Amino acid sequence: MAAFGTVFIPEMAISWFDGNSWSPAEIVSSESIQLHPGAHVLHYSSTCFEGLKAFRHEDGSVNIFRMDRNIERFSQSSELLALPEIDKDATGKMIIDIVSRFKDDVPEPPGSMYIRPTHFGTEPAIGKAASPSVTSCQYILLSPVGDYFAGGDTTLRLLLEEDGARCAAHMGMIKSGGNYASALRPIMKAKEEFNADQVLFCPNGDVQETGAANFLLIDGNEVITKALDESFLHGVTRDSILTLARDLGMDVQERQLTIDELLERAAKPGCEAALSGTAAVLTPVGTLIHNGKDYPVGNGGIGATTLKLRQALNDIQWGKAEDKHGWLTRI
Ligand SMILES: *Cc1c(COP(=O)(O)O)cnc(C)c1O
Repeated sequence: MAAFGTVFIPEMAISWFDGNSWSPAEIVSSESIQLHPGAHVLHYSSTCFEGLKAFRHEDGSVNIFRMDRNIERFSQSSELLALPEIDKDATGKMIIDIVSRFKDDVPEPPGSMYIRPTHFGTEPAIGKAASPSVTSCQYILLSPVGDYFAGGDTTLRLLLEEDGARCAAHMGMIKSGGNYASALRPIMKAKEEFNADQVLFCPNGDVQETGAANFLLIDGNEVITKALDESFLHGVTRDSILTLARDLGMDVQERQLTIDELLERAAKPGCEAALSGTAAVLTPVGTLIHNGKDYPVGNGGIGATTLKLRQALNDIQWGKAEDKHGWLTRI
């Protein structure tokens, strides 16, 4: 099977901001876009994106999960990067239009259609290192994706990184390209030196998140994760899982979690940890690596509560459980 995110639907929705207004959205080929080599984004990383999914239900309908929440974050990322303001309704319409057009290409569960809105500064002005791009472009790119867990469920190994940071502290809540580039070297090093799958960034011992997913500790009836601040990405999956955990009567704690507390709790037999994000929903973490030593989380295997929470979310996405919180946009 093709790697996640490498297959694209041949057309996309696109709109350009000329400094005054957004052009009417168009459907164009997704093969290429034309940009001036001096475009602001290529020099000063004025770019942000979103990741959300559309799911096929048994009744033949296609349903987009938490579109409003993702558009809200897209708008906020654009604002924090000093990109032109997006028109949230117009972006929503672009998403619905392009997904509707390729409705037949939305895979059956456990597959889905991954939706990638992208917004970037296009102004040809290499002298603008310290000022924003006046013009920009947004497009909605689609990528059909298969079962993330097709190879069977495994657990992840996470390296706890206290010294480095994923990105600049004030950039953490922005879904912006530069943040991922800045995290690459520490992740590559962790893979090479510790056979880690991901780095769990813990600046000054404060457990934050990995390169592209949020971290949750599940200890019996307690779910513990960092409280929202501007230093990390506010995952929609994180919010959804916490909501479902509260619905199940679990004790959800959004607060600071130190490496010391994490390792202490992880040593208990029933403890679980997981990463949350749109691509994989909830992925079990089996091992934490700290100061060159491996620490299994609980028994190091796949946690039952992790699977239960993932299933509860999948059931809503796949139309098998009631959408009590109004998370689906049906098209
Ligand atoms: C996208 C992302 C997440 C997960 O967000 P979701 O909305 O759940 O997909 C977490 N951390 C980072 C750094 C991300 O880019």
